[in-house]
Amino acid sequence: MDRRSARLKNAHVGHLELVMGDITEQDVDVVVNAANSSLLGGGGVDGAIHRKGGPDILAACRALRAGHYGRGLKTGQAVATTAGRLAARWVVHTVGPVWSATHDRSELLADCYRNSLHVAAGLGAHTVAFPAISTGIYRWPVESAATVAVATIAETRKQTPDITSVRLVLFDKRAFDAYEVAAAGQ
Ligand code: ADP
Repeated sequence: MDRRSARLKNAHVGHLELVMGDITEQDVDVVVNAANSSLLGGGGVDGAIHRKGGPDILAACRALRAGHYGRGLKTGQAVATTAGRLAARWVVHTVGPVWSATHDRSELLADCYRNSLHVAAGLGAHTVAFPAISTGIYRWPVESAATVAVATIAETRKQTPDITSVRLVLFDKRAFDAYEVAAAGQ
C-alpha cells in the first residue's frame, strides 16, 4: 500500500457506504455530478467528471440544453446522461443550492439526493455514488450538508428498493469524518 492509499478511509454505516476518494474512479452504475444549472461544465466534481469522462458527456448535456432543458437545470432537479469513458454507466447531474446564512435551503439540498435516486432507479441502476453536494464552490457547511444527505438517502431508499448500494464519496478527511458522524447519528 502506498502512502496515499494508506491514508484513504472507508466505512459502512447501516446501509450507507462511505469512501474517502475520487468519485470519478468509482465502479458503480451511477455517478452523481454536483453540476451547475447551465449543465455545461464547471469546477470541482463537475470539472473532474467531464475531464475523465470525455466529450460524450458534454455532448449529451448540450443536447439536453437544446431540447427539454433549454433554460438549464433547476436547483434540486436531476437528469441523466451517458458516463462517457467513466467506469459508471450513467452520470446523473443535479444542481445543489448555494449556501445561504439567511434562508434555509435544506429542502433543495434534500431534493438533489431524492431526485437523483429516483432518476437512478428509473434507469435500472443498482449502485449509486454521490459527492458531498454543495460543500465546495457552493460553500455549504459540511456538517449540515452531511445531516441532510444521510437523512434524505435513508428516507428515499425505502422507495427505491432496487438500489442496493449508495456510496458517499468524500474528497478529504474532514468531509469523510463529518459524513461518518452524521451517518452514525442517523
Ligand atoms: P458544489 O458546487 O455543489 O459545492 P463542488 O464540486 O465545488 O460542488 O464540491 C462538492 C464537493 O466535492 C466538495 O466537498 C469537494 O471537495 C468535492 N470534490 C471535488 N472534486 C471531487 C472528486 N473528484 N471526487 C469527489 N469529491 C470531489
